[in-house]
Amino acid sequence: MEGLRFQVVGEAFAKKPLDVAMPNERPSEYFGKKVFNREKMYKYLPKAVYEKMVDVMDNGARLDRNIADAVAAGMKQWAMENGVTHYTHWFQPLTEGTAEKHDSFIEHDGKGGMVEEFTGKLLVQQEPDASSFPSGGIRSTFEARGYSAWDPTSPVFIIDDTLCIPTVFISYSGESLDYKAPLLRALKAVNKAATDVCHYFDPDVRKVTSNLGWEQEYFLVDEGLYAARPDLLLTGRTLMGHDSAKNQQMDDHYFGSIPERVAAYMRDLEIQALELGIPCKTRHNEVAPNQFELAPIFEDTNLAVDHNMLLMSLMKRVARKHGFRVLLHEKPFAGINGSGKHNNWSLSTDTGVLLHAPGKTPEQNLRFAVFIVETLMGVYRHNGLLKASIMSATNAHRLGANEAPPAIISSFLGTQLSELLDHIEKADKDDLFRLDGKQGLKLDIPQIPELLIDNTDRNRTSPFAFTGNRFEFRAVGSEANCASAMTALNTAVAEALADFKLRVDAKIADYTERTEFSEGTGHTAKFHAIIDVLREDIKTCRPIRFDGNGYSDEWKAEAARRGLDTETSCPVIFERYLDADSIRMFEAMGVMTRKELEARNEVKWETYTKKIQIEARVLGDISMNHIIPIATNYQSRLLENAERMRSIFPAEKADELNARNLKLIEEIAMRTAEIETQVDNLVSARKVANRIDDEHQKAIAYHDTIAPYFDIIRRQIDKLELIVDDALWPLPKYRELLFVR
Ligand code: ADP
Ligand code: MG
Repeated sequence: MEGLRFQVVGEAFAKKPLDVAMPNERPSEYFGKKVFNREKMYKYLPKAVYEKMVDVMDNGARLDRNIADAVAAGMKQWAMENGVTHYTHWFQPLTEGTAEKHDSFIEHDGKGGMVEEFTGKLLVQQEPDASSFPSGGIRSTFEARGYSAWDPTSPVFIIDDTLCIPTVFISYSGESLDYKAPLLRALKAVNKAATDVCHYFDPDVRKVTSNLGWEQEYFLVDEGLYAARPDLLLTGRTLMGHDSAKNQQMDDHYFGSIPERVAAYMRDLEIQALELGIPCKTRHNEVAPNQFELAPIFEDTNLAVDHNMLLMSLMKRVARKHGFRVLLHEKPFAGINGSGKHNNWSLSTDTGVLLHAPGKTPEQNLRFAVFIVETLMGVYRHNGLLKASIMSATNAHRLGANEAPPAIISSFLGTQLSELLDHIEKADKDDLFRLDGKQGLKLDIPQIPELLIDNTDRNRTSPFAFTGNRFEFRAVGSEANCASAMTALNTAVAEALADFKLRVDAKIADYTERTEFSEGTGHTAKFHAIIDVLREDIKTCRPIRFDGNGYSDEWKAEAARRGLDTETSCPVIFERYLDADSIRMFEAMGVMTRKELEARNEVKWETYTKKIQIEARVLGDISMNHIIPIATNYQSRLLENAERMRSIFPAEKADELNARNLKLIEEIAMRTAEIETQVDNLVSARKVANRIDDEHQKAIAYHDTIAPYFDIIRRQIDKLELIVDDALWPLPKYRELLFVR
């Protein structure tokens, strides 16, 4: 073992950046090269089929079988021209990452030879063996196999020799077994509810789209160093490691120049991502050493989610080529910033962004206010659920650690927007409505200054901040599938908008009857109704608005007083999915049934338990097989040294010279004994927890009785790291993991 660490560090230092061949074309030319996008459809499909596909993609029209055959034929031709031999349904099961099973195009031709074949049936539906994917008991309950079905709103793409077809994954009885099916249903719900509300202002709006622009943070670690860290290898994070003398305190990494080997990696990654149609835009260093970020231009939420999943797997592949490993874990290193994935979210109509201020007319500004307030209503009513949607065993380390938003959902609006809402809420109604001669009604919604866009100050502590034309949901974890957060958020907003409309319609009916609103006809009644309901809601959702410092202890107390969810235990937070309010919302919006929600929670709890279980085992192994033997080895050397002193010097003199050694020997003895005791305790606690059958209770036991040992054991190991001879220490240290590149 001795020396391995120095060897891998030396090798890592010696690595040179790879020479990445730059394409001859410009990025705008190779963008989407490996995607069967509209341009390729136009080229490879008969005109009528192309038009039908556009209808399917844009308006959700049904895809009939004969069209599917023609589409498959065009796809096959394009794919084969690009050297493709296989195809796969690509889906997002409830595990991490994506799943695929490749089949070749090859089929018997009936004459003893082979042909390449790919039909509409193969494109549209497959039956992958679902038994090894988590289903939370749905399969055993329903005796159903799963099938994957093409999602034509996300285009197929090529990876190496394989045509990848984005699909949803569902059980035979119709329950979703993946992330994508509920997301598509949530997007449909928000489209319907938001379009209805838009009609108060503009009857021509045909469709409302939910947009997502994610920002992916990640760490890069040299692969030799990575391989020498069993904890990184098996859990994605370091379970031990003393602080590096220097880490991020100089603030010299953020936006600094990108290290060359990393720049080569980014270049390679971006070329491949652009070819796959991922519109990469921004790259930079992040706050922590060896931490970086990549962000594309925002897209329709469904496509953006697929692109993020695709990018995460691409990142891992490309990293290996460059001798790196990419860490997507939310908290790979204690004591320095972890990684998140800000989800920039907005709604837009076929005519423009809805959360964009200022509008040109008072009506547009009123519409803006309605969408802001109803978003807040959704976030307020379901703040616990939204937290559950971003929570995981790994993200739990990051939230509330003074670097990321706290484990309390609140929304930052900034002064100007807050003032606008206060004005609408409190202004004398006669001031809001003025009769303006011949033109009838005049709405006095204050002009929103142009400044708003740039002026929304960057309150980094807010988990859900308004940033000019969008909300930034910052609590999402770097490793997460964005679909989880986006499903919860879009459903919550859909419900708020639908509820808003119900109440406004009721008031319009009522006000139209009444004479005081009759001037200016129904128009007046409508705006009076909207303003009245809006004012109610501004009051109701006030507790979710918080512009102060989210890291402070005062906020935790204040949030609890406001009735916001302040729970911090991950398995308990998952319970929010099964609250009566959550189930009612998901069912009413047609997104998930109680059965699906229950099944998913089983998967969440089980996954949580497994993660903690693996970490506990790895920590136990490393403690007993690496740390204690090495520390004991060093201790023996010290003992030998002490004895030799005694053989050379008179006893009194030897004792004096041995004082430091004896102190170290004692400290090592005490710390290794403590590690042994605590690892034993950890193992016993695991045995107790493993006897619990109920997944929910088991996860809680893992959280309450097992996870707390991690810090206790780690503290001893990190102290030993400081005293044991550096040449003996087997694990690459923080300074090496973070500064070697
Ligand atoms: P930041 O300054 O927050 O790091 P970036 O420019 O890195 O911002 O990323 C912002 C992300 O927000 C990008 O993906 C961008 O395309 C996206 N974005 C911009 N406008 C909108 C919008 N209206 N809706 C959704 N996403 C948006
Ligand atoms: Mg951002």
